[in-house]
Amino acid sequence: MVAELHEPEEVLPGIWRTGAEMISTPYRISTNAYAVVGHGESLFIDTAWWMGVATTHLDALLDVARRKRAPMSEVFITHAHRDHSGFTDYLGARLPADGGVRLHRAEQPTVAAMSDYQGLPDRASAVDWYRGLGFPEETADAIVDTKMPDLPMPTESIRWCDDGEIVTVGGRSLRVVGTPGHTPGHASLFEEATGVLFCGDALLPRGHGNPHVTVRPFTAPDPLTDYVRGLTALGELDVRVCLPGHGPAVDDPTSLIRAHLDYVDAKVSSLRDVLDDRPSSAFELASRLRWRGGRKSFTELVNDEWFLAFADTLARIGRAVTLGWARRELRDDGVPVYAVAR
Ligand SMILES: [Zn+2]
Repeated sequence: MVAELHEPEEVLPGIWRTGAEMISTPYRISTNAYAVVGHGESLFIDTAWWMGVATTHLDALLDVARRKRAPMSEVFITHAHRDHSGFTDYLGARLPADGGVRLHRAEQPTVAAMSDYQGLPDRASAVDWYRGLGFPEETADAIVDTKMPDLPMPTESIRWCDDGEIVTVGGRSLRVVGTPGHTPGHASLFEEATGVLFCGDALLPRGHGNPHVTVRPFTAPDPLTDYVRGLTALGELDVRVCLPGHGPAVDDPTSLIRAHLDYVDAKVSSLRDVLDDRPSSAFELASRLRWRGGRKSFTELVNDEWFLAFADTLARIGRAVTLGWARRELRDDGVPVYAVAR
């Protein structure tokens, strides 16, 4: 794996971007950190992170803010995933004494789940969770190892925030807009005066990743519906430019939102092709779906693709049940099973 650091670049007036690019064949993904420079102070958004990458990119961004005589005074993190939050404590330690790093309150379960088995206390309960969703014993055992506990996220500098909260910095003001789905407490920041939306992983430009919306033990059972609601609400704001967590700025937010909503519809409707009158477990449905653009079966997936595909299947099922075209019942052994609702 190779990591390249980006030099800070002024992407919009008073908005600077830096980050790190990870090249790990076949993936190449760049993660962004931003600074909104106001009069006399700056707001930093996300920290960017990859294993083995130093804080050079953030030091360069802190330098830009100092040179503009607008030192960092606020930090906002869109969500707790490590590629966005990995240097939270580094920035937190450099804030003024009364400063805190804002993260949405609904992100607490995501933070807690980083250092355990996805919201479950130990390996055995993780295996049980998969078995309870229809996995055969050996398969349940194997999939647990594709998503091992991560490092705990330090929370000393976190100040939990809520939807609608206003972050003011040097004459600029941005509003916290909850955009749950990718994680339960994923949030965006919107600057009404300029129409700039910092959208984290809620919206990603084509070719810069997929805003995975998945069900885990610590999430709600239907995060796709939350996600659709959040995107629909974004569509009603006067967004002129999206600055995402990965990749370049997008200046056609309407098409970007439309493309993401269409993608959700396509995913959920592919479940129709594998759902019939036979009650099937989530494991059976995941096994009937095709993955990696139709090229792979469920059991051909490797590493964390496997765990993500299953969590994605659960999200599709959750939305299909909410929409009323799939029905859920319990099999004799207590495993939930699904069939077409008539
Ligand atoms: Zn990300």
